[in-house]
Amino acid sequence: MNIDFKNKRALIRVDFNVPLDSEGNITDNTRMVKALPTIREVLEKGGSVILMSHLGRPLKKLNEDGTINKEKFSLKYLVEHLAELIMVDVKFADDCASDEAALMASELKPGEILLLENTRFYEGETKGDRGLAEKLAGLGDVFVNDAFGTAHRAHASTAVVADYFTAEHKTLGLLMQKEVENAKKVMYSPDRPFTAILGGAKVSDKIQLIDRLMEKANKIIIGGGMAYTFVKAQGGHVGNSLVEEDYLDLANTLLEKAKNENVDIILPVDSIIADGFSNEAEFRACPSDQIPDGWMGLDIGPEAIEDFRKAILDSGTILWNGPSGVFEFSNFAKGTFSVAQAVADATGKGAFSLIGGGDSVAAINKSGLAEKVSFISTGGGAMLEFLEGKTLPGIAAVEE
Ligand code: AMP
Repeated sequence: MNIDFKNKRALIRVDFNVPLDSEGNITDNTRMVKALPTIREVLEKGGSVILMSHLGRPLKKLNEDGTINKEKFSLKYLVEHLAELIMVDVKFADDCASDEAALMASELKPGEILLLENTRFYEGETKGDRGLAEKLAGLGDVFVNDAFGTAHRAHASTAVVADYFTAEHKTLGLLMQKEVENAKKVMYSPDRPFTAILGGAKVSDKIQLIDRLMEKANKIIIGGGMAYTFVKAQGGHVGNSLVEEDYLDLANTLLEKAKNENVDIILPVDSIIADGFSNEAEFRACPSDQIPDGWMGLDIGPEAIEDFRKAILDSGTILWNGPSGVFEFSNFAKGTFSVAQAVADATGKGAFSLIGGGDSVAAINKSGLAEKVSFISTGGGAMLEFLEGKTLPGIAAVEE
């Protein structure tokens, strides 16, 4: 990071929105671990660290009497674990914008860390309130944004706060830099062939991404529920599979566009179909365009697995966003895990692979292949918007 941190208090926006169980135990510390390099660098360069983050949606899940459930959504549960990870004591301010937080911040000495309470205890956070942003900004001499997961939000602590620092006093953190670098590599200078693997429930969520990929990718593999809108648009019979009727025309337009742009669209030729949306349902393989009524495609079939694998292995760059089936049900997880395996194998052969989007990240972690891909993004929605070519407020506010 291109800032002199010596004797400076660095206000760092991290994404510590970690899952907690009912006793406040952290069930997945990935987001904390990913923030460590930035924190370490500031400390090593002689600065002190003030960490701020949101946790969950406390204002959307108020107590019955209308008060905030400060116990459930507190960042205090992270203090001890963070101290263990970084091997430095961590102080805690039980309100991110109080006078006491300001006092604690002003008393920080180089090498020390202060964690602030949940920024979303303030209504102004998600509203991008300038008063709150200014208060937060007053806590630090410099600002570092390392929270890629919330970079697509123009919130007080993610974007507006940066307005109170000059260009020389703010920067992207190391995690954020890596996220941006890898996403740019995929979209602007991919080794060819560039294969995008898309999946998940709906076409409507990914329209902009598909459209943009038409100009960038050589092959687009489409699996998951979204495939059936394309299959039906082409005249196939998809039974009770997930279909967005309003998007049938658009699906055909996209297929036409792909032809004109010389992009190879690979749909699943066969599916694992089920007679209900349940792991207990009857299931069997079937051509994707001949699914009987009362049955639905919940995973890609054996032939599709082979097609997908072949295309993935013949790639220089791979972007994977969205599962190929309902992988939460063990009977319909094979397609998604085969994709994970193929991505790992292609990476082993030298391809660059980026996994972005919550569910494909969960799938790659569950498959045990996380170490065998090039980069796993920490930002679901943020990565999607970045790939779509949108400006992310959290990045723009620092880089302006
Ligand atoms: P998304 O958030 O759009 O990436 O969608 C992820 C969800 O899509 C997961 O919860 C999957 O279970 C679901 N999904 C994947 N394939 C199918 C399918 N064939 N039918 C219905 N849902 C699916």
